[in-house]
Amino acid sequence: MTHTTVHHIVPRSRESDGQTVRLPGKFHKSWHDVFGNLYGDECVRFIELLNVQLRRRKRITNNDLHRLREKVKDK
Ligand SMILES: [Zn+2]
Repeated sequence: MTHTTVHHIVPRSRESDGQTVRLPGKFHKSWHDVFGNLYGDECVRFIELLNVQLRRRKRITNNDLHRLREKVKDK
């Protein structure tokens, strides 16, 4: 059986309503490595903006990724 961990649909750091889903552990860690505490349409916007950056730039740093995540947040 796959090891699962609890994921908050709306992150706890962003006033979660308590709704959770269990995800495979490795997938869950990878999700947060990529998306941090983004959720919903913010993740889609992050991928769209990142895709533009991938085409324009030779190098993308962790700071660049952080700025992109902050840019797409609905707040
Ligand atoms: Zn999670």
